[in-house]
Amino acid sequence: MIKMKFNTKVIHGGQKHDAAYGAVMPPIYQTTTYAQTTPGGHKGYEYSRTHNPTRNALENAFASIENGNYGLAFGSGLAAIDAVIKLLKPGDEVISTNDLYGGSFRLFTKIFQGFGIKFHFIGMENAINIESYINTNTKLIWVETPTNPMMSIIDVKAVSAIAKRHSILLAVDNTFATPYLQQPLDLGADIVMHSATKYLGGHSDVVMGGLVVKDKALADKLYFIQNASGAICGPQDSFLVLRGIKTLHVRMQRHCENGKAIAKYLVSHPKVENVYWPGFENHPNHHIAKSQMKDFGGMISFTSKGSNFEEAIKIVEKLKVFTLAESLGGVESLSGHPASMTHASIPKVEREKTGVVDSLIRLSVGIEDIDDLIADLKQALG
Ligand SMILES: *Cc1c(COP(=O)(O)O)cnc(C)c1O
Repeated sequence: MIKMKFNTKVIHGGQKHDAAYGAVMPPIYQTTTYAQTTPGGHKGYEYSRTHNPTRNALENAFASIENGNYGLAFGSGLAAIDAVIKLLKPGDEVISTNDLYGGSFRLFTKIFQGFGIKFHFIGMENAINIESYINTNTKLIWVETPTNPMMSIIDVKAVSAIAKRHSILLAVDNTFATPYLQQPLDLGADIVMHSATKYLGGHSDVVMGGLVVKDKALADKLYFIQNASGAICGPQDSFLVLRGIKTLHVRMQRHCENGKAIAKYLVSHPKVENVYWPGFENHPNHHIAKSQMKDFGGMISFTSKGSNFEEAIKIVEKLKVFTLAESLGGVESLSGHPASMTHASIPKVEREKTGVVDSLIRLSVGIEDIDDLIADLKQALG
């Protein structure tokens, strides 16, 4: 195997040309089953819940770009998270970041808590906070960084040192950063999780999830869950995300450039109160962002002065180039109002504790012309 740099891996990592005709892109193997010459006499594929060549090509790409050894693709990001939590059993405890994707919070509290798994949601901006929540039942630490939507930065190396000292698994939701910006396995995480729906797919046309690990025993457990629970993705979607990944590095470069320009514009705007973006030197964990990320990404949250629920909604309604929509990470810019959209499933008291106030607006900065994006914000902020 040739040693590849990241920009080559996104295009070639884990990929082989098709054996049958040399197709450069893996064919979409739209099949449920595979002919056998005698019972068990097959070419490595039996049934498409278990394995599918198009999905395997994508899973190999996932593993390659995250510097892991094993990749797994699921029908959504939440299905991938669901598979990770199924490694646990009743009585086990999980310590999770408190500023968390709303759907992850809902899955943890509304589904798995009912199965006897206990979750602690805590601020991890200072990794040492984790120590006091650890006991013999603690089996998993769940980290999002940058967090959603407050853009807090968690020091993955520091959390990993704590996890290793207590033999606890560390999983990092790398959806916001993508492996272009940070590679959690290299920072000591055991599991990397993606909502490939976002930057990896990159074109707002597929819902998908992924996991990557280094360890064979852990991979085997997760493959068992993937096959046993069956939350897989189809070959067509696998093909689309594989295609998306091939331009991840060029898209991310532009997301970062545009994100930086918009963060700077917002900070200088007289009506804007707070801007949350890890690239600012006065961001509380800017130095960690600088050391563990290559750049600062295209996700920005902000509040405007004297704003409230209604005012924030007026601003997002006025935006025209930024489409008001759930989700993020596509080529097109999106705006969102977390309190009424992505984080509506988190009780108001809980979300306000982490800064998700009624006036907060979240932007997923796309790769359009920066002048048009800034002009749009200018007219909406009026
Ligand atoms: C969207 C998202 C998820 C959930 O992924 P789906 O593909 O929507 O199931 C999990 N974590 C983060 C950070 C997300 O943005």
